[in-house]
Amino acid sequence: MKTINRIKANLIIGIIMFLTLFPFITNAQSNKCATMQNLNKSIAQNPGLKQRMLENEEATRNWIFKNSSSSKLGKGGIITIPTVVHVIMKDTSINITDNQIYSQINVLNKDFRLMNADTLSSQHPFWQFVSDTKIEFCLAKKDPNGNATTGITRTTTNVSEWGDSNSHNIKSTANGGHDNWNPNQYLNIYVVKLEGKTLGFATFPDELSTSPNLDGVVIRYEAFGTEGEAGTGDFKANNGGRTGTHEVGHWLNLRHIWGDTVCGNDFVDDTKPAEGSNFNCVTFPHRANNTCGADSNGEMYMNYMDYVDDSCMNMFTVGQNIRMQACLNGSRAGLLTSSGCSMPTSLNDISFANAVAVFPNPNNGQFTLSVDSKNINSVTATLIDILGATVKEFGIVSTGNSTITLSGVSSGVYYLKVSTPNNTTIKKIFVTK
Ligand SMILES: [Zn+2]
Repeated sequence: MKTINRIKANLIIGIIMFLTLFPFITNAQSNKCATMQNLNKSIAQNPGLKQRMLENEEATRNWIFKNSSSSKLGKGGIITIPTVVHVIMKDTSINITDNQIYSQINVLNKDFRLMNADTLSSQHPFWQFVSDTKIEFCLAKKDPNGNATTGITRTTTNVSEWGDSNSHNIKSTANGGHDNWNPNQYLNIYVVKLEGKTLGFATFPDELSTSPNLDGVVIRYEAFGTEGEAGTGDFKANNGGRTGTHEVGHWLNLRHIWGDTVCGNDFVDDTKPAEGSNFNCVTFPHRANNTCGADSNGEMYMNYMDYVDDSCMNMFTVGQNIRMQACLNGSRAGLLTSSGCSMPTSLNDISFANAVAVFPNPNNGQFTLSVDSKNINSVTATLIDILGATVKEFGIVSTGNSTITLSGVSSGVYYLKVSTPNNTTIKKIFVTK
């Protein structure tokens, strides 16, 4: 009951803050993330957007209120978001390799699933707030037309750099960028050369209905992933792929932790009140007993939605997770039914798919592969991970039932690719050890 009262109180405070603080005061200290500037521009062009954001904020609060009290959260399945990475470059000597792209997807999966190596220790006072969001990302296997894809597009452009004046053209094929894929079905991530020191920016879910063609996340190539060009030039502190984690946080409706003004509101209950953004690598406790009411533990500067260096941020909170879940059950619910992570299937493949079964699933790394023997021979099986890399090859497997044991394979989501010379089917395998 105490929690419900707190949520109710916060709902009222949240709406009051939203009314009084809107439009947001831009943090003049830094231009690390241009998401709020982008939003203000969007509101200037679409006067109805401000009102709709206000209404949607109330809907978000209502969803959170209902779902927090019934303990539905954290028990649901994993949500996998089909992701396409659009690389747009004039200078082809800037080599954004597939591996650099895989490294960014890897960081997103680790950070959102609380599998990051630098997560807080269980002894840390903020450990109780840390959350596994159960949100994962796959590079799309099927494009909007139903064709097979690597989940990567590459465009050579005449545009040298993208900045405030032309950033909307990043998502326009006719203007030197690349049209986004259906934003109700895919997360579009753009890797580009940005002017100045801006690391990236994202659109909020509320902008989806007004400007679906602008939906997506933009990241400068030097702050994208952990390999290749990541961390080059002036961006050494941004070599951990956390710009991606931060911007995807915005894309799933998270605000900056300081609420974009002095002691502002980020509409989340368990992030500590913060005076403003934090930079570099500050140490715990930072701004203890600050003027906004933080206690002796100070501000939660290590949150992904602050501005500290990549190596010093490591958490989303339970409250931020609930807010993202509300978004995935609201404006971005289209992602829940997207088949972008599945391989396309031909008619023949469908009948083959029906002849192959895996059970139990989820399993502890040992399962039965059942292949209906009728008219099927020379069946091979390969285990691949969510990035498409081969984990284990089993060679030819017999028809009927075979037991497969995945020794040395850690818990996670995998795909078992089962093929004959003519057909292929993919079975998703959930390994929980
Ligand atoms: Zn931001």
